[in-house]
Amino acid sequence: QEVSLRDSDLLRHECLIGGQWTHADDGTSIVVTNPATGAHLGTVPRMGATETRRAIEAASKALGAWRAKTAKERAALLRRWHDLMLACREDLALIMTVEQGKPLAESRAEIAYAASFIEWFAEEAKRVYGDTIPGHAADKRIVVIKQPIGVCAAITPWNFPAAMLTRKLGPALAAGCTMVIKPASQTPFSALALCVLAERAGIPAGVISCVTGSAEAIGAELTGNPIVKKVSFTGSTEIGKRLLAQCAATVKKASMELGGNAPFIVFDDADLDAAVQGAIASKYRNAGQTCVCANRFLVQDGVYDAFVEKLTSKVRALTVGNGLDDTVQIGPLIDAKAVAKVEEHVEDALAKGARVVTGGTRHDAGENFYEPTVITEARRDMKIFGEETFGPVAPVFRFHTEDEAIRLANDTEFGLASYFYGRDIGRVWRVAEALDYGIVGINEGLISTEVAPFGGVKESGLGREGSKYGIEDYLELKYLCMGGI
Ligand code: ADP
Repeated sequence: QEVSLRDSDLLRHECLIGGQWTHADDGTSIVVTNPATGAHLGTVPRMGATETRRAIEAASKALGAWRAKTAKERAALLRRWHDLMLACREDLALIMTVEQGKPLAESRAEIAYAASFIEWFAEEAKRVYGDTIPGHAADKRIVVIKQPIGVCAAITPWNFPAAMLTRKLGPALAAGCTMVIKPASQTPFSALALCVLAERAGIPAGVISCVTGSAEAIGAELTGNPIVKKVSFTGSTEIGKRLLAQCAATVKKASMELGGNAPFIVFDDADLDAAVQGAIASKYRNAGQTCVCANRFLVQDGVYDAFVEKLTSKVRALTVGNGLDDTVQIGPLIDAKAVAKVEEHVEDALAKGARVVTGGTRHDAGENFYEPTVITEARRDMKIFGEETFGPVAPVFRFHTEDEAIRLANDTEFGLASYFYGRDIGRVWRVAEALDYGIVGINEGLISTEVAPFGGVKESGLGREGSKYGIEDYLELKYLCMGGI
């Protein structure tokens, strides 16, 4: 046991189904390891279709009473859950750092961010307004009401083990839906700890169930079972497409938050120090493993060398190591496969003429560590241009004109986050409107907040999470036509 918690009850090795903490039916389990050290942290159940079906049935049973509560009653329970998350922030952060690898400061920040979605949607629960529409005939009246979609499912990734869950659970529960969650197998303990706190907050049995285990079997049941009315997924585009296809058979609603390939454009008139600061925050947070990470730096010719120099000196100063050490800024990547992908992208770039300015190799802190890296003379024909690297590597591409920058930025099937730095007001508007992305950071590298709509266009996804729009994804419109008046 590497992690010593104030409240050891938060670390659970069983799943929560309909208010019962349970093992897999066949008693099998999966091992969870610390990506920084390789140490075994413990096990969670290896569940499959049968246990998932039971969780769905529990969610269905809990639905009636949950949706019948007033919004204010649901809000009070959510608020209590939020408060418990903050009260247990240190323990939750420790659990996250040992299973995910990110530095403690980032884990603490994620717990606050995760809790913020519960707070936000507790407040929004009370503001699910309908509409009245002027009738189309003298004896008719039209009213539009909003109702919870019903039983929902969430499948979430390992890069933000807490926030990706609360971003779905918050609006779902606020709207009056119940939910079955399937966290990533690399990071299940964070999810289970949130379930412990939800129980303590008084959220009734079955409103949230959590199953861990075989992604394929659980995913097939969640997308195939007709009781489930909506699936919300955050993860890779490849798996998202598969789940979307599976949802088609029962015409489920789907929210998809998939991969990105974020451009980070620096124009000649940018404040370079601000751009470098934004670049560090956007690129190297979570060791480059966020779906809104800058993936491609597009820098105008006139400031290319100066930007590279300033960026490199900041990147060289980043400290790499075990996230439990408070001075560490860059932790490990999640696993060996992630490191291999980063290596492949860097090797491919070098073979095609790019140059490494700093980094470019594995880091000796451990097997899953990679040096924070800057690459120059990157070009369009490299893998690093077209694919999401998901690691601490900044490839810097050169451009000459605004049109060229926009063309390069949009030359991808993805459309989640984008960033640009420049001061000319006309250009700021032109570029902001021309970027085919769901999110644009303008002179800003950190764009995540619960108050704004997060989501992508093109193959980056469907739907929006957070903000006043986020709850709509969990509501159905019903049109009431009243005649004979
Ligand atoms: P990543 O590359 O970030 O690991 P994935 O899309 O593979 O992204 O994983 C995101 C989530 O999807 C995880 O919870 C994972 O277990 C789950 N997942 C992976 N494969 C499948 C599948 N075939 N069906 C359902 N869920 C899956």
